Amino acid sequence: VRAEIVAVGTELLLGQIVDTNSTRIAEDLAAAGVDCTLQVRVGDNVERIAEVLQASLGRADAVIVCGGLGPTQDDLTREAIALVMGVGLVEDARAMELLEQAFAQRHRVMSPNNRRQGFVPVGARIIEQRLGTAPGLICPVGAKVIYALPGVPDELEEMMSRAVLPDLSSRRDDDAVIASRIVKTWGIGESRLAELLSERFDELDKKGPGAPTIAFLARGIEGIQVRVTVKASSNEAARTLLDEEEKAVTAILGKDVFGIDEETMESRIGSLLLSSGRTLALAESFTGGLIAARIVAVPGASRWFRGGVVSYASEVKRALLKVAEDSVVSATAVGEMAQGALELFGADVAVATTGVAGPDPDEGQPPGTAFVGIAFADSGFDAAPLELFGTRNRIRELGAISALDRLRRRIEGGS
Ligand code: ATP
Ligand code: MG
Repeated sequence: VRAEIVAVGTELLLGQIVDTNSTRIAEDLAAAGVDCTLQVRVGDNVERIAEVLQASLGRADAVIVCGGLGPTQDDLTREAIALVMGVGLVEDARAMELLEQAFAQRHRVMSPNNRRQGFVPVGARIIEQRLGTAPGLICPVGAKVIYALPGVPDELEEMMSRAVLPDLSSRRDDDAVIASRIVKTWGIGESRLAELLSERFDELDKKGPGAPTIAFLARGIEGIQVRVTVKASSNEAARTLLDEEEKAVTAILGKDVFGIDEETMESRIGSLLLSSGRTLALAESFTGGLIAARIVAVPGASRWFRGGVVSYASEVKRALLKVAEDSVVSATAVGEMAQGALELFGADVAVATTGVAGPDPDEGQPPGTAFVGIAFADSGFDAAPLELFGTRNRIRELGAISALDRLRRRIEGGS
């Protein structure tokens, strides 16, 4: 199956936003073994969108178009697809029902414009929205297909994996199953990763065509993902191959692996704490609640997360957490903060952060100077410096994930 990607939006042409959607779609296609042969960007103009779609359909088996499904007059993707299909737009009862529900849930009044999102080209099927309002579309054109996805990245990604990839794979001529698994790593650079896995690459190469493939996806402060893709004759067989490859990769990468597929740093920490029946508390200074925010994003976090304080002012660190050390940006102080949080919240494990986010130095220490402290009710506390750099925001975000990673490693046992 060959696919092309069409990103719609005048703002893309003006350079106001970067077309990350096409990149995301391309990654998904590559992992699913679908050849992506062209990517284009087009403005909010119905004739030009239709022209591009028509040309893409002439070359490829599938076209994935993103953006322009919104409620406003410049959202023209539906109309353009209808032109290409040579049909009109009709109201889709299910789409309209879901739209009404979405608006009711948000206590918002649905304007006539919003109703536009409930119209689809005749012959198209909707992809139900789970996050926003605009439904996606699956539009058959002869033996080929146009998929239309919303421009909002989260919504797009969700529909891509739930609806588009399965539909695409059902269109393949062979009945091979292509499946992939993501091994998530943190604290290791891409070149080192490649070095460590080079022997495994060679082994897979020797197996010849059809062997599992390994790709790296850099995810910024979230680390680097190793994506393993296999091709097999059944789901069962694919799973066996993936299990095998996951085992091989994690054996090589060891503690640098923090999760598989949907797992996040914080969900892994939650599982580890839950399985040992322990609870967590936080004391955050320069991360200002970023760690807490990540933790409460994990469903069921209330079973293992007691709470946290944003102890920003030095006096608060002293009064609330009993910090005695003079310099509050120090290993000693962060250890005291962790110990203080442990007692304050009656938790079994506590993490604390302190540091200088910048842009100006503090206590004579340059931006990026930071410490993480971890305290255990049964075995005392320790602290270590974090190596952070970049803008204020980056230092805060990187500080939060670095502290979480340190905690994970400590709970898993080891450094
Ligand atoms: P909505 O229903 O929210 O209006 P839509 O399908 O009309 O969605 P757009 O209006 O084109 O999509 O885009 C919505 C938002 O998604 C934009 O504000 C933009 O930030 C983001 N977005 C759109 N296209 C892209 C793209 N190609 N890459 C990254 N982000 C995008
Ligand atoms: Mg829009």
